[in-house]
Amino acid sequence: MTKASAYAAFDKSSPLGPFSLERREPGARDVQFDILFCGVCHSDLHTVRSEWEGTVYPCVPGHEIVGKVTKVGDNVTKFKVGDRVAVGCMVDSCKTCPSCKAGLEQYCDNRAVVFTYNSPDEHIPGKRTYGGYSTQIVVDERFCLKVPGNLDLAGTAPLLCAGITLYSPLKHWETGPSKKVGIVGLGGLGHMGVKISHAMGAHTVLFTTSPDKAEDAKRLGADEVVVSKNADEMKKQSESLDLIVNTVAASHDLDAYTSLLKRDGTMVLVGLPEHPHPSPSVGNLLSKRRSLAGSMIGGIPETQEMLDFCSAHNIVSDIEMIPIQKINEAYERMLKSDVKYRFVIDMASLRN
Ligand code: NAP
Ligand code: ZN
Repeated sequence: MTKASAYAAFDKSSPLGPFSLERREPGARDVQFDILFCGVCHSDLHTVRSEWEGTVYPCVPGHEIVGKVTKVGDNVTKFKVGDRVAVGCMVDSCKTCPSCKAGLEQYCDNRAVVFTYNSPDEHIPGKRTYGGYSTQIVVDERFCLKVPGNLDLAGTAPLLCAGITLYSPLKHWETGPSKKVGIVGLGGLGHMGVKISHAMGAHTVLFTTSPDKAEDAKRLGADEVVVSKNADEMKKQSESLDLIVNTVAASHDLDAYTSLLKRDGTMVLVGLPEHPHPSPSVGNLLSKRRSLAGSMIGGIPETQEMLDFCSAHNIVSDIEMIPIQKINEAYERMLKSDVKYRFVIDMASLRN
């Protein structure tokens, strides 16, 4: 075992603070790496405050992890010491079920996904997995990704959750030049959605509650920006969108968006609020054969594909770098949508 410094939540209402944890010695197929940067996802906040229930404390969040390899096991073939690598939301799964075999580990049929934090850790009995708000991590090479050489490392961190969570549904629902795609919410996930949808060639419409983000949204790749509180602006989009990806982290009226879908259009929910949305109007769905769907992150092969796509299109996240000591303040600002557009922790602040 090796010791690593970390920041943890000790209960659902106190601020996060310093914590020391142990990582396993790398096994034959394991990669050990120094964490250099970690993105701050709204899911970290939901989990730390037990908004989805089931959080076990101490909890070390963080699943947008990038760094440099320090050690590899004897049977590791894909990585060597010094490589730039990344880990996202998962560190293991059953690897044998049809979903895992299809590279869709997040939908593991045996419900054996081991999430990067707050899952039982089979390597250290009685402990939970600890995430990226720490100086070092050890993972099975099958759950480790290669960071393309041209991508800024800190800006790459948020691709590991925010990036793949938008890339996967955009790809699955065949985003491309002939499509009109809506992205709801310009936060961490949403700003990656705007960039990726634009890069896939779709006419991209950003829906926001924050009028002051309009100019930025266009710079990021939106062809149109709609302030969702403005009924006239919303009405102009009626029955016009092929696909909407909704990233909002709070409960809200879904009908306002399903009514903007064309016949056979789909709204994919990726935001997972603490409290349920009001039940959507069935009439709104059946009158135009519209679908309401959900999507969770993306599998490991697709995550590598997304990183390579971002490399080809020169896409990284727009970030605000913080030292770990500012994490509690960052959570409060994220709740006020006051971040452009993802906080990333500089892990050098934990090494001092
Ligand atoms: P975020 O950075 O806080 O962004 C959420 C955005 O939603 C805000 O920037 C804001 O955009 C909008 N918003 C917030 N409150 C709102 C409200 N009351 N009404 C309308 N719009 C509101 O969060 P994130 O990290 O992108 O995560 C978003 C959600 O996705 C979270 O629930 C997170 O847990 C979930 N998530 C899901 C997956 C998955 O696999 N499906 C993966 C990662 C995260 P505007 O200012 O533009 O309105
Ligand atoms: Zn996340």
